[in-house]
Amino acid sequence: MELENEKQLNFIEQIISDDLESGRVQEIITRFPPEPNGYLHIGHAKSICLNFGLAEKFNGKCNLRFDDTNPEKEEEHYMEAIKEDVRWLGFQWAKLCYASDYFEQFYRWAVDLVKAGLAYVDHQSPEEIRQTRGTLTEPGENSPYRNRDIEKNLELLQKMRKGEFDEGECVLRAKIDMSHPNINMRDPVMYRILKKAHYRTGNLWCIYPMYDFAHGYEDAIEGITHSICTLEFADHRPLYDWFLENVDIPSRPRQYEFARLNLSYTVMSKRLLLGLVGEGIVSGWDDPRMPTIQGLRRRGYTPSSIRKFCQEIGVAKSNSMVDYELLEHTIREELNAKAQRVMVVLHPLKVIIENYPDDAEELIKYQNNPEDPSMGTRMVPFSKELYIERDDFREDPPKKYFRLAPGKEVRLKHAYYITCREVIKDEWGNIVELRCEYDPESKGGETPDGRKVRGTLHWVSAPHGVKVEIRLYDKLFTLKNMSEMEEGKNYPHYLNPHSLEVLSESVAEPVLKEAQPGDRFQFLRQGYFTVDSDSTPDTLIFNRTVALKDTWAKIQNKG
Ligand code: ATP
Ligand code: MG
Repeated sequence: MELENEKQLNFIEQIISDDLESGRVQEIITRFPPEPNGYLHIGHAKSICLNFGLAEKFNGKCNLRFDDTNPEKEEEHYMEAIKEDVRWLGFQWAKLCYASDYFEQFYRWAVDLVKAGLAYVDHQSPEEIRQTRGTLTEPGENSPYRNRDIEKNLELLQKMRKGEFDEGECVLRAKIDMSHPNINMRDPVMYRILKKAHYRTGNLWCIYPMYDFAHGYEDAIEGITHSICTLEFADHRPLYDWFLENVDIPSRPRQYEFARLNLSYTVMSKRLLLGLVGEGIVSGWDDPRMPTIQGLRRRGYTPSSIRKFCQEIGVAKSNSMVDYELLEHTIREELNAKAQRVMVVLHPLKVIIENYPDDAEELIKYQNNPEDPSMGTRMVPFSKELYIERDDFREDPPKKYFRLAPGKEVRLKHAYYITCREVIKDEWGNIVELRCEYDPESKGGETPDGRKVRGTLHWVSAPHGVKVEIRLYDKLFTLKNMSEMEEGKNYPHYLNPHSLEVLSESVAEPVLKEAQPGDRFQFLRQGYFTVDSDSTPDTLIFNRTVALKDTWAKIQNKG
C-alpha cells in the first residue's frame, strides 16, 4: 500500500474546506471527548488522529475534553492514562476541558427549558418510562406528570438538586413528542438522581445530566465548529439540535458522523476490555495482546505506525471491518526500515566446531541494518561453541531442506560455513549437541572456490550469549468478526489458547545486554521484538511485536 502525498480530501475534510472557503467559520475547533471510564483503544486512536489531524491540517484547534458526566464509572487514573496516550500518539490539545466544569450551566439551561414549558419532572419509575416509550412501530404514551404546570416543575427540579428525593424517585424529562418516529425524541431523560460522589465535583451534585442532554451543550460552550462522532449517534442528532435550538447558546456546533473502527480478531468496547482485565484473562490494560493504546505500545507499536494505520484506513460513512493484518503490516514496514538487526536463538541447540581453536575468539563484523547503511556495523563475538535454532537442524531432512543436516553445509550469518559431522544424543535419544567442522576460508560468507551454500542460519556464541525471556504473542481471539459470536456463546469461548507463549531458554547476542525497555529490534529470521516494561538488566524480557512474514499482501490479493 503506497501512501500518496496528495490524497483526495475525505468527506469531513471536504466539508471543512468548504466551510472555510465560504466563510461560515473562520477557524475550526474540533475535540476528542472520551469518557474517563477505561483506557483508550485503537478505535479511539482513529478518532484522535481524525480530530487532531483536522485541526493540524486546517490550522485550527483541537480540545481534549473529558466527557465526565457519570460519577459511577469514572476515575482519575483513567483520565491521567488518557492524557498520556494522546500525548504519546504525538498530539497536543489546545485546551483541556471537563464536562463536569459545566454542570452549573447545564442546570441553568435545564431551568430555561422548564420555564419554556419544554421539560418536566416525571415520577414514573425507570421501568415505567421504558415501557411507555413505545417501539419503532408503535407510539409511546404520555406520562401522567407531563402536563404539570411550570411553577411546580421548577420547584420539583430545585428539590431534586437539593437532594430531597431518593435515587429513582423522579427524573427531569424533555417535553418533545411521545409519538415521534425517532425514539430518541420521545421525551428523553435529561437529569437523573445519583447520590454518588463525582471524581471532580465531589458531593456538590446529586443530579447528573444524561449524555444526550449534555453533549451538544459541551460543544456549544467550547465553540466547537465541527463535532465529529461515530455513526451510531446520527439518530441522536435531531435531539442534540432540539436542545441547542431551545436555549440561548454561545455558539452552534454542527455534527458529522463517521464509521467507527472495527478490527478483526479483537473487541473494542471498554466494557468487554474491562471484563478481560477483571477476569484475569489478560495481565492488565497494557497486556501486549490488548487493542488498547497502552497494550499496543507495550507490544512494540510506535506512535507513527498507529497514525499511519489510521491514515490508511481512511474516514468513511459506512461501517466495515479492518483486517488486523493491516495493522501488523504497518508496524512491520516501519521497523523494517528502522530496526537494528540482531541475532537471538529462541530454541537453542548447541553446536561445537571441532576444528576451531579451543580458546580462540574473534569478532565478526555485522551490518546493523541492510535497509539503512547509515546505521553502521558492529562486532559480534564468535567462538568454538555456538547455539543455533533447534528448528534449523533435521536428522532426516526432507528434500529441498537447505538448513543443517548430517553431512550438509550451511552458512552462519556473516561468519563461516559449517558442516555437520556428528549428532550427539542423550540417553533418551534427544539431540543435545551437534559436532561440526568449519571452513576457515569461508569467513564473511564466501569461499575462494565460490561453492554455493543455500542455507544461512543465525547463531549466538555460547560463552558470550545472554539468556533472555521471550514472549511470543498472537491474536487474542480465534473468531475473525467478534460481533458474530454464536448464540449462547460469549467471548471467553473464542479465546486463542496460544495467544501467549513464554520461552525462558532463549539466548541473545551480547549487544542486547544494553537494551532498554521500549527499544525495538529485528531478530534475524524471527520477527520484530521490543524490550518489555518489566525487563531488568538481570532478566531481559522481549515481546514479539510481529512476525517477519507479511500476510497482508496475501489477504489483499484475495480480496
Ligand atoms: P467504547 O464503546 O469502547 O466504550 P465509547 O464510545 O464509549 O467507547 P468514549 O470515551 O465515549 O468511548 O469515546 C470517545 C470518542 O472516541 C468518541 O467520540 C467516540 O465516537 C470515539 N470512538 C470510540 N470508539 C471508536 C471506534 N471504534 N472507532 C472510532 N472512534 C471511536
Ligand atoms: Mg461513549
